[in-house]
Amino acid sequence: MQTYHDILILNLTLCLLMESWFKRVIKLFCRSGGIFFMLAAGKNMGHYCRLCGRTRPNERFSGNGHRIHVCNDCAKMPKADREAIEQEEEIFGFMRQSHISDKNIARLRVLSAADNSRIADLASLVLDVAKVKPYKKRRLKVLARERRDLLEALERTGLIHVHQ
Ligand SMILES: [Zn+2]
Repeated sequence: MQTYHDILILNLTLCLLMESWFKRVIKLFCRSGGIFFMLAAGKNMGHYCRLCGRTRPNERFSGNGHRIHVCNDCAKMPKADREAIEQEEEIFGFMRQSHISDKNIARLRVLSAADNSRIADLASLVLDVAKVKPYKKRRLKVLARERRDLLEALERTGLIHVHQ
């Protein structure tokens, strides 16, 4: 009986050891797979530029540009142009959100006074939309019923696409 018990214990220990070894191998496999995927992605898929929206090879980015996701061509752009692209993206972002907050509204007020007329127009439009319907849910329906003019302006500026 004693030997049988010993064998049982030995078996159990082996099982546990095997299990932890197996887990370690799986973990290592997953981790190296992840690294490999990241390397492959970095090499073949390049890097995304948040200003021109293109995915470009890594050579098209310098050190700092890499970090802030701006390609070398876009980094050469005049500051005002760069800011306008970023602000437009910011305004579209507010529309994409499920709710335009008071903080967003304060920011939209600042942007509606921008020198760039497109930015000023977009910001005041989203500001008006937020006053009628700050929540995204059923926004288009409410605008269709109460503010056709705003709905048409959303269509004209392309801001309506964030709802589709
Ligand atoms: Zn770019």
